[in-house]
Amino acid sequence: MTLELSDDLKMLKAQIRRFVDTEIIPVEREATDGFDMKPEYRARFEAMTKELGYWFVELSEDQGGLGLGLIARVLLWEEMGRTIACPPRKQSIFGPEVSPILFNLTPEQQKDYLFPVMRGEKTTCFALSEPDAGGDPGNIRTTAIRDGDAYVINGYKIFITGAQTADFAQVMAVTDPVKGRKGGISSFLVDMDTPGLKITREQQTMMGDRPCELSFENVRVPAANLIGQEGRGFALAQDWINQGRIRHGARAIGVIERSLEMAVAQATGRKTFGKPLSERQAVQWKLVDSYLDLKALRLMVYDTAMRYDLGEDVRHDAYIVKMQGDRMAFEAMDRCMQIHGGSGLTIDLPIEKFWRDQRSMMITEGPEEILRGSLAQKVLQDYAQ
Ligand SMILES: Cc1cc2nc3c(=O)[nH]c(=O)nc-3n(C[C@H](O)[C@H](O)[C@H](O)COP(=O)(O)OP(=O)(O)OC[C@H]3O[C@@H](n4cnc5c(N)ncnc54)[C@H](O)[C@@H]3O)c2cc1C
Repeated sequence: MTLELSDDLKMLKAQIRRFVDTEIIPVEREATDGFDMKPEYRARFEAMTKELGYWFVELSEDQGGLGLGLIARVLLWEEMGRTIACPPRKQSIFGPEVSPILFNLTPEQQKDYLFPVMRGEKTTCFALSEPDAGGDPGNIRTTAIRDGDAYVINGYKIFITGAQTADFAQVMAVTDPVKGRKGGISSFLVDMDTPGLKITREQQTMMGDRPCELSFENVRVPAANLIGQEGRGFALAQDWINQGRIRHGARAIGVIERSLEMAVAQATGRKTFGKPLSERQAVQWKLVDSYLDLKALRLMVYDTAMRYDLGEDVRHDAYIVKMQGDRMAFEAMDRCMQIHGGSGLTIDLPIEKFWRDQRSMMITEGPEEILRGSLAQKVLQDYAQ
């Protein structure tokens, strides 16, 4: 087996790298306000990605998109991972992002929700986490009770990214408490201006993300806004979650690569006690540790994405690249910070921002311990005599 990229994919990667190096990295600090990319920079970068021909990268050709496979998107995420300009949980600069849940809509729902998102007229958020259910989402308590031609939603959600600007939320709620996590959770399209739905708080985080808390008090949602079949909420989200985890791994490749670029420049340029840092074994070994992780992670992520594109079940591989990638990238940026000394702690350099972002990636979309628990089940099963 070889993981050689095709010539087209190599060209895509090289083009995006050039774009990131020449247009984005030189202005990366001023391009964000700590929370999101500033609108004038977003407009400028999006105009450039359109010009390069990388717009609507998520959509299939019949939907007006490029029909790129996951491996191609992995390359885009990897290259974008080399800059702090695009906050990791915000809209990318390659066209509106249409999560796979929105692909499961009826034609009527597509008209009101999917197509406006594709045209950039509406935005959405995904509301699953609750005070008692984040890493263990099967424990959610928000209920959606059928009442005639509607469902009535009651509950409380926390950490919902993008709720303050969203036009509608994709809300996960319990429709059958007896079945619970095993077929009792459903997904709904809920307009943010529906009576009874309130944003109660914007949470402040060390990375600048400002997810929201939402309360639902007798929120009446037409039964026609159920996504897919009742009880299939988790099954619908699974593909999206897998892709999200592979995206963590891809982004991590870019973070490690940038950490090496910065660390090598510092190690060769900075002298202490009469010698460049790069001549000290203690520094060289830090660089090699990051390099080893980079080589291993890239192979794992490309292999997972290529097999996803072949239609294989890569759920467990997605756990691995998410878990390993987030940890490796955090450790690489931490080493880079150490090699920079005091300057690594200042906001003159992007290291501290990468470091804060990367630490947070180790918690969201599945903390390592929970992913390890699932992998343990697989290992116990696969290697049972
Ligand atoms: C910036 C940000 C944005 C977010 N955006 C969204 C969003 O848009 N939509 C949404 O629905 N959610 C969102 N979340 C929620 C996020 O997915 C959860 O925070 C995450 O899944 C962890 O859940 P938790 O915080 O409840 O931690 P918990 O589940 O309470 O876990 C806390 C810690 O306990 C340990 N632990 C937990 N379970 C186990 C176990 N089985 N074995 C061993 N150790 C364990 C782990 O160390 C874990 O880190 C966001 C969170 C943040 C911080």
